[in-house]
Amino acid sequence: HRISDRLKKKQPVFSFEFFPPKNDDGERLLMQTIEDLKALEPDFVSVTYGAGGSTRAKTREWVRSIQDRYAIPAMAHLTCVGSGREEIRSILEDLYSDGIRNIMALRGDPPKGETAFVAPADGFRYANELISFIRSTGLDFCLGAAAYPEVHGEAPSAAEDLRNLKRKVDAGADFLVTQLFFDNEKYFSFVDQVRAAGIEVPVVPGIMPITAFKQIERFTAMAGCAIPDSLVKSLAGVQDDAEALLNLSLEFTLRQCEELLSKGAPGIHFYTLNQSRATAIILDRLRRSVSAERR
Ligand code: FAD
Repeated sequence: HRISDRLKKKQPVFSFEFFPPKNDDGERLLMQTIEDLKALEPDFVSVTYGAGGSTRAKTREWVRSIQDRYAIPAMAHLTCVGSGREEIRSILEDLYSDGIRNIMALRGDPPKGETAFVAPADGFRYANELISFIRSTGLDFCLGAAAYPEVHGEAPSAAEDLRNLKRKVDAGADFLVTQLFFDNEKYFSFVDQVRAAGIEVPVVPGIMPITAFKQIERFTAMAGCAIPDSLVKSLAGVQDDAEALLNLSLEFTLRQCEELLSKGAPGIHFYTLNQSRATAIILDRLRRSVSAERR
């Protein structure tokens, strides 16, 4: 069940990220997506944790039902937003009693309309504090934490961000998953810096297949990542032709993943946005190219 064990025993490790839907249509879509993707036998899937409200309880429900129904190890994301330590403790106990053993431990973003993160009363300011707290409960979770090849937006400097990453790992994070990026050089140089800082845990690249032109701007602004000019230009040329755009972007993502794996990335974590098609095509082709290379 533990993702860190998978990462030790088997590579590459492939995983899918979902978010808990807000309505019935979204639930049906995610159910269908999981049905479509399960044939690809992911090593694990993860379910994000909302900024607040009713979808938070859904994270636990989806993680439990994916594990129980499909026997796929699943990871629940958890943030420090809006919860004091006793509430976090009871969430952890509930997850544990449901058989959930993997948690992505995050600080979370400030609520909409607010620019700075304010720790809740009796809560945590940073992810490393949440991680230390989870370790102090004695519940035997495998913990993931977030890493930023292009530096987290609020970090005063890259060096400070790296020191924070080290604090998270020293506190007990077993592995890292990166924010999405499109330029592999950013990942490779980041991993060099991570290793030079004495961080030894796996750094799994988080990759998002592009499926629509308008997505690009939205996600790069949100995630603060650069998108290569050549990619923007070629996608702009076909932006009104959905099929051509999909083909071009699939080709780009496939090559991006091939290079990551051939140069030592431990796996790929796909940000699926609850859609199956692009991820299914890429992973299927990727698996074939990885096995052809090994033959
Ligand atoms: P932290 O590691 O706490 O870092 C936050 C900022 O504080 C950084 O700028 C860091 O450099 C700085 N910092 C940390 N410690 C200190 C210190 N001691 N002194 C000064 N500065 C410090 N969000 C959700 O709401 N739900 C999700 O499910 C979710 N899943 C995610 C999954 C992945 C793989 C990633 C990459 C991000 C995810 N996010 C999610 C977004 C995440 O919550 C935001 O990026 C958030 O702003 C930072 O979270 P963190 O855990 O990286 O924070």
